[in-house]
Amino acid sequence: RPAQRTPLIAGNWKMNLDHLQAVAFVQKLHWALKDAKHEFDTVDVSVFPPFTDLRSVQTLLDADKIPFGLGAQDLSIHDSGAYTGEVSGVFLKRLDVRSVIIGHSERREYHAETDEVVAAKVQAALRHELVPVICVGETAEDLERHGASAVPVGQLEAALAGVPASADVVVAYEPVWAIGSGQAATPEQAQEVCAKLRDVVRAALGDDAAARTRILYGGSVKAANIASFMRQPDVDGALVGGASLLVDEFASIIRFRK
Ligand code: PGA
Repeated sequence: RPAQRTPLIAGNWKMNLDHLQAVAFVQKLHWALKDAKHEFDTVDVSVFPPFTDLRSVQTLLDADKIPFGLGAQDLSIHDSGAYTGEVSGVFLKRLDVRSVIIGHSERREYHAETDEVVAAKVQAALRHELVPVICVGETAEDLERHGASAVPVGQLEAALAGVPASADVVVAYEPVWAIGSGQAATPEQAQEVCAKLRDVVRAALGDDAAARTRILYGGSVKAANIASFMRQPDVDGALVGGASLLVDEFASIIRFRK
């Protein structure tokens, strides 16, 4: 993996931890990593709390100088106006949010987010200098019918349409059947699909973007399997769900070399 791609370990908390629990969790996680200060030079760590936690977590990160990136789990395609219940990228940016998960399979499935909506959200993120963490992945049925890569490749092509070559994006390959199932993809399958996704980035945004864009694997990542994914040349980190809610487990994932 080229040095320009600093590994990224991202914790997607989904709809877990209220703002008080979130603050306590971040403090404990930072404490668990404190004797490993140098790790932060070699691994980027981001947490993606629910919207209602963002202000509290941002205040804590700022006050205690905790070097975690702050991310959101979704954003509106609109910037302001009569859109009840929506959260604008403008507001996220004002809270020092740096990145935003877009097109997670749970949003695609339960909120009917199409490739078109995902592409509009990528544009909304970029408009406000938020890094979109674009999630793609095949269902078990897709896997059986089309193999592993066809659906994620198509989803990423759609998401990157109209994105400028200079854009900073992160891609997360998350096979839907591996999410929350305890059954992760094999490192070889993750590598194969991530390499194809990098080809999509190259075709859409050019060689520089392909070399610098981080592509994560997600789906039942835990301390026991993270190293096997990180050994793959085109896997630059992980998007972690369930295991990102356990302080010691998530700390071990962040310290994947040990
Ligand atoms: P999981 O979730 O780690 O619990 O499988 C990953 C995700 O949905 O991002």
